[in-house]
Amino acid sequence: MTTSVIEVIDLAKTYGRDDDAVHALKGVSFTVEPGHVFGLLGPNGAGKSTTVKILTTLTRADSGSASVAGYDVEDDPAQVRHNIGYIPQKPCFDPTATGWENLSLQGRIFGMSGKEIKHRSAELLERFGLTEAAGRITKTWSGGMQRKLDVALGLIHRPQVLFLDEPTTGLDPEARTDMWAEISGLTDDDGLTVLLTTHYLEEADNLAGSLVIVDRGEMVASGTPEELKAQLDGDKVQVELIEPSQNGQAIATLQSVLDVREVTTDGSMLRAHVGNGAETLPRVLSALEAAGVELASVTVARPTLDDVYLRHAGRSFRSADELGQKEVA
Ligand code: ADP
Ligand code: MG
Repeated sequence: MTTSVIEVIDLAKTYGRDDDAVHALKGVSFTVEPGHVFGLLGPNGAGKSTTVKILTTLTRADSGSASVAGYDVEDDPAQVRHNIGYIPQKPCFDPTATGWENLSLQGRIFGMSGKEIKHRSAELLERFGLTEAAGRITKTWSGGMQRKLDVALGLIHRPQVLFLDEPTTGLDPEARTDMWAEISGLTDDDGLTVLLTTHYLEEADNLAGSLVIVDRGEMVASGTPEELKAQLDGDKVQVELIEPSQNGQAIATLQSVLDVREVTTDGSMLRAHVGNGAETLPRVLSALEAAGVELASVTVARPTLDDVYLRHAGRSFRSADELGQKEVA
C-alpha cells in the first residue's frame, strides 16, 4: 500500500522511428507525496510535457507504468481524468468568451450542475482576483489574468491533483511573481497536490517542495531544493576569462589552489567549487595572476539549482535550454 498520489515507474517514450526517432523519455521514475508542489525541472526538450501528457492520459508510454490518484493511467484513464486538472503549456481558455462563460463550459464538460458551476466559479474567480473582470471577453484580459483563468478552469471540478505545464512561460516578471503566490497557495487548502513543470530554475527553487531534474529524457537528480544544493557542499567561485584560449591554463591553475574541489567550465566561464568562498578567493586571484590569466569578472556565490544541474548533467542549464529550444523549433 502506498501513500503516493503519483507513481511513475521507468516510463519510456519514443516519437517517430528509425532515423527520425526522438527518445523523449528513456526510463523516468519518481513518486509524489500528497499535498505539496512537486517540480519537474528541465531545459527545453527534456521530456517534461511528454511526462505530463502520459500522466494525464493524453498520450501513452511505450513502456513503464504510472498511476495518478491511485488509478493506473493505462487501465483506468477515465478515473484518472476525473481526479485531475490539467493546464497545458499553451493557453486553453476561449478568448472569445467571458470568464464566467469559460468556467461554465468547463463545468458542463465535467457534468456539474448549473448551481454547482455558479458557486464554484464565483469561488475561483474570487480566489484569483478575477471577479471584476469575469463579465468581460477574456481576450481583453492581461496575460497574467488569462493564465490565472487557465488555472481556475483546471480546478473547477475540485481535482485531487493539478498538472501545471510551464505555468509562467511568456509572463512578464511581475505577472510571474503574482502567479508564484497563487501556485504556492494552491496546496494550502483542499490538500491539493500540484505537479508543475518548468524550465525556470528560480521557479522550481521557489515553489517546489521536492523536485526531479530531467535532462534529455533522463532523471539526473531528485530531492528537495535544499537537499540538492546541500549535496554540492560549499561555495562557488566563478571567473570569466577575457581570452577563452587561456581556458586550459586557467583550469590547471585553479585545480592547484588549496581548497578548490572541482572545476567546471562553459566556454570562457570557469566555476570552482570551494569550501569557503571568501577564504579561497584571494588565493584563486593571486594564482591566476601569477599564471598570467586575464579576468573579465569574478564572483563568489552560494550553490543554486543551476549548479546542481551543471554537476549532474555536465553542461549549464542555460546552454541546454537554448539548444533544446533550437531543436524543438
Ligand atoms: P519539454 O516539455 O521538456 O520541453 P517535450 O516532452 O515536449 O519536452 O519533448 C521532448 C522531446 O520530444 C523533444 O525533443 C521534442 O522535440 C520531442 N517531441 C515532443 N512531442 C513530439 C511529437 N509529437 N512528435 C515528435 N517529437 C516530439
Ligand atoms: Mg514542455
